[in-house]
Amino acid sequence: MIKYSKKELIKGIKNSERVLLSRAITLAESQKEEHRKYIHGIIEKLLPDTGKSLRIGITGVPGVGKSTFIESFGAYLISLGHKVAVLTIDPSSKQSGGSILGDKTRMPQLALNDNAYIRPSPAGISLGGVAGKTREAMLLCEAAGYNIILVETVGVGQSETAVSEMVDAFLLLMLSGAGDELQGIKKGIMESADIIAINKCDGDNIKKSKEAQMEYKRAVQMFPRKFENWVTEVLTVSALENMGMEEIWQKILKFESLSKKFNHFERNRSGQLINWFETELHFLLNHHLMKTKGIQDKVKTMKSKISKGEISSFRAADIIFYEFLSKVS
Ligand code: GDP
Repeated sequence: MIKYSKKELIKGIKNSERVLLSRAITLAESQKEEHRKYIHGIIEKLLPDTGKSLRIGITGVPGVGKSTFIESFGAYLISLGHKVAVLTIDPSSKQSGGSILGDKTRMPQLALNDNAYIRPSPAGISLGGVAGKTREAMLLCEAAGYNIILVETVGVGQSETAVSEMVDAFLLLMLSGAGDELQGIKKGIMESADIIAINKCDGDNIKKSKEAQMEYKRAVQMFPRKFENWVTEVLTVSALENMGMEEIWQKILKFESLSKKFNHFERNRSGQLINWFETELHFLLNHHLMKTKGIQDKVKTMKSKISKGEISSFRAADIIFYEFLSKVS
């Protein structure tokens, strides 16, 4: 049973009522087909109210200062009159769905602010699934009037790629004095960053941070450019001491404006829409394939035959596929 009618949810979200927004996101995160369909109907109706925010991805290894940064940066953005939603992608999240305790304690000040909305990663869903749910949460937050969406990822490899595929600008937080390998950042992630901020540039760490800044500035010259007129910016900040927030915002705005001027923004968003469509289509195909009577058992049998060398993997896939076709046609 769904407690709220579609009309109530739509009206509530448009009025920026947090309880209803949270309720809608919970429905979007649900594994139940009935809930998925319900929320898709709502998102369709809300589509004209979506897409107007600036979507910013934030990544960096655990301990780099992401939550401290989001506290400071979020507060700064709100002081400028913005409404900020923070969504987290964490494929390893064990929190129970919908509980915001985890992120409330990570960002205690922001969590209390009326102009901020914080939503942690849905629990117990594969990364592909998490990215899809976060995308829907993002659209719902936009419809609720949040004009800046910060999508945070805990750096665990693939989740950064998932985030970079759903945002307009991608910010990578780094530390000075640790090699890239130590920071667990893959070259590809560095290359997909539009802005690199070296955090913890305070106290004894200022000199080292400035040196790291020079080093990264040299390194980014070699990166392929997303569009001709943009070379990855490298800054130093101190999330703890609230330093560098204005500078980082100015760089993001500069990126947004150039990205729009040179059509990168539009191209990126429409590429993302196509990508989301394909992901959804793959999900649906796989979902229905595995739900088709007898297929799951057959897949298991095939896996065992493949590992024993009794059948080739492509022949096994063919058999499953044609059996599926015969059952649905
Ligand atoms: P996260 O795991 O990336 O979210 O990192 P946190 O925000 O939890 O920060 C990890 C630790 O680094 C905490 O003890 C913070 O207080 C500290 N920290 C974060 N930002 C800064 C900073 O700018 N300067 C200093 N000195 N410490 C910081």
